[in-house]
Amino acid sequence: MNWKKSSEENKMILTEDYVRKTIEEVAPLVEEESGLKCDVKDFKLKFKLISSPLASYNIKNHELRFSKYISCNGNCFYLILGHELMHHSQYHTFKDLQKREKEFISSKGLKDKLIWSNPFNSLIEGDATLVEMNLQEKYFKNAKAGEIRNLSYLYWRGMLCEKFNDGKDRKGINELYTAPVGELIKIFGENTIFL
Ligand SMILES: [Zn+2]
Repeated sequence: MNWKKSSEENKMILTEDYVRKTIEEVAPLVEEESGLKCDVKDFKLKFKLISSPLASYNIKNHELRFSKYISCNGNCFYLILGHELMHHSQYHTFKDLQKREKEFISSKGLKDKLIWSNPFNSLIEGDATLVEMNLQEKYFKNAKAGEIRNLSYLYWRGMLCEKFNDGKDRKGINELYTAPVGELIKIFGENTIFL
């Protein structure tokens, strides 16, 4: 592996070359697993020197951001990347997703924490976690990622598994992205949060 080990155990320093190479490896797997389109030429890479968040995707400029000093075991960076690339695929494939989410938030007057627990975010994070965990099962079994998973994300993933044949009905899941918000509320509730 191309990790550079830092002084603290399990803390690795990511290099730009390593991240680029890993994106090229993981993007086709995300496409295959989700049936969505992942255009890796569409965004630039940016590293952050802070420890939190571990990784994020910026919808506005299609940038992926990572903590340069990342705490990660084995292949878990593949999973972190798979999750963030899935966010890129979601917004890249469904161009009005962000607009619809914003409209819902403003129509409900949601604030602070509740913004985070709206039904669009439940779909977005639940599905990214579903794809990430499927990648682990198929390709990166030794990745130790459990401790970095958010309980709400796991709960939303569970909802998708329950309704869509253990998460295998990709057509059904992908149709949710353009379905009326009422369909999402039926599955996730209006502001489900699980802390
Ligand atoms: Zn996410």
